[in-house]
Amino acid sequence: MRDILPPESGRWRRFTSVFADVVEAAGYAQLIPPLLEDLGVFTRIGDATDVVTKEMYDFVDKGERRVALRPEQTASVCRAFAQHRPAALPWKVFYSGPNFRYEKPQRGRYRQFDQVGIEALGVDDPMLDVEVIALGWEFYQALGLRQVTLLVNSLGEPDDRARYVEALRLHFEAAGEELSEQSRVTLAKNPLRVLDSKRAPDQPFIESAPQIADFYSPEAANHFDAVQAGLRSLDIPFAVESKLVRGLDYYRRTIFEFQGGTLDSAQNALGGGGRYDGLVEALGGPATPGIGFALGVDRTLIACDDEGCFPAEPRQLDAFIVDVVGGLEAVAITAELRSAGMSADRGYDNRSMKAQMKLANRSNAAFAVIVGEQEAADGTVVAKPMNGGDQVTIPRSELIAHLSAARSQDTRSQDTRSQDTRSQDTRSQKYGTHD
Ligand code: AMP
Repeated sequence: MRDILPPESGRWRRFTSVFADVVEAAGYAQLIPPLLEDLGVFTRIGDATDVVTKEMYDFVDKGERRVALRPEQTASVCRAFAQHRPAALPWKVFYSGPNFRYEKPQRGRYRQFDQVGIEALGVDDPMLDVEVIALGWEFYQALGLRQVTLLVNSLGEPDDRARYVEALRLHFEAAGEELSEQSRVTLAKNPLRVLDSKRAPDQPFIESAPQIADFYSPEAANHFDAVQAGLRSLDIPFAVESKLVRGLDYYRRTIFEFQGGTLDSAQNALGGGGRYDGLVEALGGPATPGIGFALGVDRTLIACDDEGCFPAEPRQLDAFIVDVVGGLEAVAITAELRSAGMSADRGYDNRSMKAQMKLANRSNAAFAVIVGEQEAADGTVVAKPMNGGDQVTIPRSELIAHLSAARSQDTRSQDTRSQDTRSQDTRSQKYGTHD
């Protein structure tokens, strides 16, 4: 677990707001589930996964309830659906916030990590699968990430999946002791998850394993074909990866993963999701189809660093007030600027002009606004552009207009620059370069 300090924390906030903009434009509204749930919410979704069996922060609370810090949020969304029974379907929600898993920490893997995600419940239409996948893709584009690979697969209908799992079990059992010890343990619980193994001895058996596509019922095959056709119609590049299974157990039919191009293979999944048509029912609700994804914030930001996009930037202030006549002028000017919608900070403790100018330099402000004896007596201020240029003495009453004019000129010149370079799409310019 770690602290996210400024200016990195500002980037986290922008990340969530870019995500909200992308998914709200498609009708998804925010759900804020609690961090803590009844342990059963998670054990019911997959007792054969490490996430649930080994990595959960679960404990008994003061009321003797078994509870857990959420390891993911899809289960919470489904629990909320089962509890509140929304009438209008699909119920389209998005979420963002921390999850907890007792994993071995390393680059891109933490015990507290953030996810943003969406879930759409109550509709079976493969075009909803297309929408969900496309929104994930669009979000990465909005961040400016270019090296993202989209992998899709279908696990078939529950019956197809069951027959496939049985075929896999026989296949891997035939490997006997040659399979890694960990995979033999996994095999006893869930043969599908053996396909996830990255261990060397398992690889030849994974290579020669039966293919899920040979087990699809006509309905499952049609659904998957429709999803692929939809993605093609949107020009979203993807590859069908028949060995993609994904961590949690509850998936049916469509599953997908977004992989980054710059991370180690054990940590290259930026996000993923799929259809989970049985999950709401498992949590006590009516039989309800659902589909969604979760994208890891921590890991996606590492990918952004690697690709040099969506940088952390200190916030740009409009003005830093340097008041060397006691501090009350700065009280008035910062209040005036802030109520006019501008950002302003100031020096404290009545420090010398030189000390305050140093702070102004460090503050990343567009202007230092200086009030000395003369200015205080005349009702003027000195506006000094911090990126060079001449300082001017202006009446106090003109300060806001002066700073606004400089700000819009600056925005115009940035717009011209970005039109010239055309290096990123409109959304990443809007969000990526200035707050
Ligand atoms: P999952 O919920 O396991 O499907 O994970 C979805 C995404 O969340 C992954 O692709 C990662 O980006 C992120 N994620 C999962 N576990 C962790 C972790 N321990 N630390 C950082 N990110 C994680």
